[in-house]
Amino acid sequence: METPKCTKDIFGSNVFNDAVMRERLPKNIYKAFVQARKGNQEMTPAVADVIANAMKDWAIEKGATHYCHWFQPMTGLTAEKHDAFINPTADGRTILEFGGKELIKGEPDASSFPSGGLRATFEARGYTAWDITSPAFIREIGKNITLYIPCAFCSYTGMVLDKKTPLLRSMEALSKQAVRVLKVLGNTEVKSVIATLGPEQEYFLVDRKFFEKRLDLLLAGRTLFGAPSPRGQEMEDHYFGSLNERVATYMNEVNNELWKLGVSAKTQHNEVAPAQYELAPIFSTVNVATDHNQLTMDVMQKVALRHGFVCLLHEKPFAGVNGSGKHNNWSVCTDTGVNLLEPGNTPHDNMVFLVFLCAVIRGVDKYSTMLRAAVATPGNDHRLGANEAPPAIVSIFLGDQLTDIFEQLASGKAKSSKQGSDMKVGVTTLPPLPKDTTDRNRTSPFAFTGNKFEFRMVGSSQSTAGPMFVLNTIVADVLCEMADQLEKSKNINADVQKLLQKIVKEHSRIVFNGDNYSEDWVAEAEKRGLPNIRNCVDSIKTIAQPEHVKLFGRHNVLSKVELHAREEILLENYAKTLNIEAGAMLNIGRRQILPAVMEYAGLVADSLNTISDAGGSCTTQKKLLTKMTDLIDRLNDGLENLAESIAKAKAISNVEKKADAFKDKVVPAMVEVRAASDELEALVDAEIWPLPTYAQMLYVR
Ligand code: ADP
Ligand code: MG
Repeated sequence: METPKCTKDIFGSNVFNDAVMRERLPKNIYKAFVQARKGNQEMTPAVADVIANAMKDWAIEKGATHYCHWFQPMTGLTAEKHDAFINPTADGRTILEFGGKELIKGEPDASSFPSGGLRATFEARGYTAWDITSPAFIREIGKNITLYIPCAFCSYTGMVLDKKTPLLRSMEALSKQAVRVLKVLGNTEVKSVIATLGPEQEYFLVDRKFFEKRLDLLLAGRTLFGAPSPRGQEMEDHYFGSLNERVATYMNEVNNELWKLGVSAKTQHNEVAPAQYELAPIFSTVNVATDHNQLTMDVMQKVALRHGFVCLLHEKPFAGVNGSGKHNNWSVCTDTGVNLLEPGNTPHDNMVFLVFLCAVIRGVDKYSTMLRAAVATPGNDHRLGANEAPPAIVSIFLGDQLTDIFEQLASGKAKSSKQGSDMKVGVTTLPPLPKDTTDRNRTSPFAFTGNKFEFRMVGSSQSTAGPMFVLNTIVADVLCEMADQLEKSKNINADVQKLLQKIVKEHSRIVFNGDNYSEDWVAEAEKRGLPNIRNCVDSIKTIAQPEHVKLFGRHNVLSKVELHAREEILLENYAKTLNIEAGAMLNIGRRQILPAVMEYAGLVADSLNTISDAGGSCTTQKKLLTKMTDLIDRLNDGLENLAESIAKAKAISNVEKKADAFKDKVVPAMVEVRAASDELEALVDAEIWPLPTYAQMLYVR
């Protein structure tokens, strides 16, 4: 057996990080690299050559045979094309080569990635460009060992085709505007700021033997049929419960794989629903955290198979129990190491904090529709507003202390901060606990949590890039407005106070500390004029509206054409996803469920005939048979209607109308089919029912 290594030695062992670079690169090259990474100078071909060579040597020592540009197309997943280092020589041997050119630029055929009309299929060229802000790493997949180079991805004409480029651009925009604001507030030391992200990843594990018998899980990642298990999550005994051994062993292997990749997997626990879990890393810059989250999702899925599990990342794999989200903890930090959302002990006189806090509040209220659209995915439609996750209404939780200060700001100057106290537990042997100034609120979609905001609407399967580039940009936009005003100010203190007062007055409607799951809030939010866009199709349609075009254009994050392309890609994605789900449903309904229920109805009929021939009364058989045949008719009618509505939706060529048809016609048809089938499931002989049940999938491990 291999001697287990200490975590300290494992961590980052497959990453071409700063420690490795310092060791392997000439000093001047490393320095030039760091300057380029800070954006202070361009990476020259000569520097790239030296780095490429060092990277190659390092990778080959670790057993790598290939390298790949690793990028994030609009599918929301990652893409990679591997090339071997080999380069044959004239004498029939080979040398292993990898130069600056290969490191900096790749040229994959882009024609099969979603482009939203940005690139005609015959113009196949796409480029990948090395993202020097995210370190290269080595992955071992099966026996294949490959050097991965994180990259951005664009078309031949320079149009953005990926999720990373707008994220990087939004980080620059945020940095630029934040530095301007800090400067007028008297801080001239700070050269740049970075947005930070800690994404909490929720997921389900189901036994592979059940998964394989469920075409819906296999093709759509969620169950399309399934009567509720008699035991759901009502005992509230899974959340933070003692870990199951097989699951714990799985988590251990996931952690080790992630640590090797430099992903700081930190927290793990059972989540609310049975078979649901969470993994949270320590936060890092939004760019690296996004790359790491992509790796995390991939590693979690691959490792699961080794343990006889399948890891489900869908937002709603099972009806009736909680779905999965990905809480995005976000903050802004200076290059001098100060968290700008750290309130300190007396937030009321922490001007920098109040300015940044108010910038976020104004940004979120002003662009709540765009923020909502950043989490508009078909999977999330089953989650948002379903009384287990935040509703589709964007609001902000500030907590007692900050709400009090926020209200003080409305009347001019904030003069005091409510203080936390010690909490006595009432047992002399237990220490007094310092009490936080504010309780938690689990129902808020956008909550201030101590020294960061937590954006909780993000879906579990989503790339964090989208929600994060939107958040960065809307905050950058408000900071830009602020800087424009304050740079002209003759009396900063007075003008800041006026500015904050105005923000508080205009945007207090977005602050809500109560229960976001309650019906009352929906009514209250409507009174306050807060948008409530309940489904993703309507939300996606808001993406390219004029104020969003201006917003992203102003900060060079996305051009008008690029934004329109995104809207189109997302609508197409919706239609395609629903088409797969509906198709899988038809297939299962016709080829598995109908035959099974007819078989059982036949058995009941046989029993009825046999027993009534023998003179029995057969009341039960008659009742059951009537009930079954009614439901079978209902199921069959439902399936016919579903088939028809799919065909109609597919025939529509306009992408908006097509998405609408799937939402308005196919989705209700699917609901009806499921209702009939789930009722039948509760009647049919367990031996005959063709699909593993909810109870098996949620409780067997
Ligand atoms: P919760 O109690 O909300 O479930 P977790 O510990 O699961 O908390 O996750 C909190 C996440 O927030 C972690 O990933 C943590 O690293 C991250 N976080 C902490 N501080 C910051 C910050 N300043 N910026 C971004 N993320 C942060
Ligand atoms: Mg958590």
